[in-house]
Amino acid sequence: MGKPTGFLEFQRTTAPKQSVEERKKHFGEFEYILPVAQAQEQGARCMDCGTPFCMSGCPLGNLIPSWNDLVYQNDWRTALDQLHATNNFPEFTGRTCPAPCESSCVLAINSPAVAIKSIENAIIERAFAEGWIIPEPPAFRTGKRVAIIGSGPAGLAAAQQLNRVGHSVTVFEKSDRIGGLLTYGIPNFKLSKSVVERRIEQLRAEGIKFCLNTEVGVKFPAWRLRREFDAVILAIGSSVERDLPLEGRELSGIYLAMEYLTQQNRIDCGDTIPHEGRIDAEGKHVVVIGSGDTAADCIGTAHRQGAASVTQFDIHTCPPEAQIYNVDWPYVPAVLIQSTSHEEGCQRMFTVLTQRFVGNAMQQVVAIEAVRLHRNPRPEERTMPHLTKGEKVLVGADLVLIAVGFSYPEYQLLRQLDVETTKTGKVAVRNGGHTSQPGIFAAGDCTRGASLVVWAIAEGRSIAHSVDVYLMGESTLPNPLQDTIVIDHHTILTL
Ligand SMILES: Cc1cc2nc3c(=O)[nH]c(=O)nc-3n(C[C@H](O)[C@H](O)[C@H](O)COP(=O)(O)OP(=O)(O)OC[C@H]3O[C@@H](n4cnc5c(N)ncnc54)[C@H](O)[C@@H]3O)c2cc1C
Ligand code: SF4
Repeated sequence: MGKPTGFLEFQRTTAPKQSVEERKKHFGEFEYILPVAQAQEQGARCMDCGTPFCMSGCPLGNLIPSWNDLVYQNDWRTALDQLHATNNFPEFTGRTCPAPCESSCVLAINSPAVAIKSIENAIIERAFAEGWIIPEPPAFRTGKRVAIIGSGPAGLAAAQQLNRVGHSVTVFEKSDRIGGLLTYGIPNFKLSKSVVERRIEQLRAEGIKFCLNTEVGVKFPAWRLRREFDAVILAIGSSVERDLPLEGRELSGIYLAMEYLTQQNRIDCGDTIPHEGRIDAEGKHVVVIGSGDTAADCIGTAHRQGAASVTQFDIHTCPPEAQIYNVDWPYVPAVLIQSTSHEEGCQRMFTVLTQRFVGNAMQQVVAIEAVRLHRNPRPEERTMPHLTKGEKVLVGADLVLIAVGFSYPEYQLLRQLDVETTKTGKVAVRNGGHTSQPGIFAAGDCTRGASLVVWAIAEGRSIAHSVDVYLMGESTLPNPLQDTIVIDHHTILTL
């Protein structure tokens, strides 16, 4: 274990960030790497608990106590091997993961958790700086061909795993860049696109083939998949956004979040957006409708573009800022999430339900009419769970961003492949990620619904194991989701 008395001697320290004023001036990453001495102190705080709840909290089952100790012992090279044993892309999770592992840390019962995510990022950044991340092509090829549709984290993790055991992997991507939501969803200030490209260089050098601008089902007919490949993985994400089909939705100045975020990511990648198509928050009163990561990213982007004000409409009630007792441990506590974008300033309005968009004579949005929601004392009369409509509110807005979630994957390809879907429109998978069609597997958001990068990587690794078994009869690839009991969406035990 780290230092037996480390948790008594050292406080929790996370990776330092630029000040709010500094970081709002640019679109680049603003979080630094945890310095070596502080990473070692955090490693020293780990108690190497008999039951490492942190590992069960991590969907990848990352070997957290092990690399905590190795960092404390200053053995960064072995720490990297331990990290890569369960996670293909720690630099993505080290930047974007909400770190459910830290909620499960035993220290978190009565004191601040070990800064696990900051250590993870420190290990992988040290590895890149030292030149330890090199291509690891397979020693031999099996002659089996695998097609992966979609180059988000699920597709990329599956690709690297399958390629490393010798299968010939082709990744099809309908977009012009690799990475899925890592590239065109998550803003550059949270995950620099150069960090994504750096890893893709390794994947290419290992022999994975990427076909960009190739929408399977349109540019590449679905029937060719069966003819040219021995197995197919659908990792197409869950990209159909929910909209708010309310009065005034046709007014100009109202956009779906992904139209806005993708555009800024394109600009950050060096693309030029024609002036007439540009969505720019500069000098505008921005209202973001929604409450998740996507909404937070719209808020951070609007700040950087120079918005006059940013307001967030959240339909939910405001959770408490902190728990009095750690009643939720080892689960993620139901407390108010103050993202880095919220730290940068935003008027947060809770329990508001948007009713209509108000426009001027130029058909430009100028305000949003909403109602406050109140807890319904008579639940049998409720129109929404526990809530009933109250007084009207009118909030001025000249740019409205709708970030109310994603429904399901796009259907075209699924229909062509005759793959069954669930009642909610996700790809239906049986044990091992097999779809209703033999030889066709699915992983990531297209099966789970909109989720997290860490889950996409875990599913990509798991599906690689299943596909390898399908092709070869057995597999040496690890399966992070095997033997895991999931109750109420929380992974609580890894047997
Ligand atoms: C704005 C935003 C911010 C987020 N922030 C975070 C965060 O901070 N932390 C976190 O953990 N998670 C975050 N997420 C969620 C996370 O990005 C996703 O859960 C994750 O990317 C899902 O990975 P995936 O590989 O399943 O799908 P995706 O990343 O969606 O990739 C799917 C890919 O498939 C391609 N594709 C689809 N159909 C076809 C076809 N027919 N032919 C070829 N290609 C096709 C798409 O173009 C896309 O590139 C965020 C999501 C969004 C939208
Ligand atoms: S991937 Fe996420 S949950 Fe797992 S160890 Fe890293 S920060 Fe924690």
